Amino acid sequence: MIIILKKGAPAESVRRLEDNLKAQGVSINHIEGVNQNIIGLVGDTSAIDIENILAQDCVENIRRVQEPYKKANRKFHPDDTVIPVKNTIIGNGSLQVIAGPCSVESEEQVITTAIAVKEAGATMLRGGAFKPRTSPYSFQGLGAEGIRLLIKARNETGLPIVTEIMDCADIDLFADVDVIQVGARNMQNFRLLKLLGRSDKPILLKRGLANTMEETLMSAEYIMAEGNMNVILCERGIRTFETMTRNTLDLSAVPLFKQKSHLPVCVDPSHATGIVSLIEPMSLAAVVAGADALEIEVHNDPKSALSDGGQQLTPVKFADIMKKIKDITAYLGRTIGK
Ligand code: PEP
Ligand code: MN
Repeated sequence: MIIILKKGAPAESVRRLEDNLKAQGVSINHIEGVNQNIIGLVGDTSAIDIENILAQDCVENIRRVQEPYKKANRKFHPDDTVIPVKNTIIGNGSLQVIAGPCSVESEEQVITTAIAVKEAGATMLRGGAFKPRTSPYSFQGLGAEGIRLLIKARNETGLPIVTEIMDCADIDLFADVDVIQVGARNMQNFRLLKLLGRSDKPILLKRGLANTMEETLMSAEYIMAEGNMNVILCERGIRTFETMTRNTLDLSAVPLFKQKSHLPVCVDPSHATGIVSLIEPMSLAAVVAGADALEIEVHNDPKSALSDGGQQLTPVKFADIMKKIKDITAYLGRTIGK
């Protein structure tokens, strides 16, 4: 971190600033320039409060030379993070396909869909029990009953289950869930992130609707700073000025997340596009871009779905897309599943 001092800054206030920084555990390099003096900070600057430094009257500007995320940073952890989830592994070069309904609606719906996606080659089952809906009048999910039905579907198919948590108070209900999803709307629910950091479950962390990649990595850092290193980043589209798609799928985030971080990366083409005909091309593109996992919405009868009916695939369409995903994965020398 580099602090640029104001011209003619009083020596006394510079000394006070330096003492304050040293007390925070960093060492100081004072560099006298022809026009301006700067202070170089050496050491772990992740806890330094930039706003507070900017507020000092001797400071003109401040620049980070290193990313503020440490635990999620590939620089300090060059090897890929590999996360075992029951009989599958995320991040070992294989591709995991997480498929299932937007919402768990009934036993018949979730089990029929689970069997169909398993047959088509999916390696994990998704389904929302707690649903973050824009309208309070829309279906809000079956809650605890939804998790019970997912567990039943797992018993039936052997597929590990992925489902979203919305509230810290519900954590005990997730004790038997294999991967806990943090939805886009909760990406910066810091209390929830800290709580999940104290769990040992894999966390599928979705990028927020209007969040940068760095903010996403800082949210991963929240979980990791509490001790849970099992974080999977998920690109699910961001809000832009485009209205033809539900969101704009930022596929460049996939290789960039993987360059900046050692965490595995998932892509959700369903929420990213909201358009059934785009799920295939975006899934294939995501695999080529290096995604470790795909999360795709599939419903046994999308026309009767209680949420996101317009973007969910039928099992037949999903099976058709899976054939192409298998082809592209094989072409890349990767496998689906373990
Ligand atoms: C979901 O996956 O069910 C969901 C609500 O997605 P997102 O948080 O990405 O909108
Ligand atoms: Mn959905």
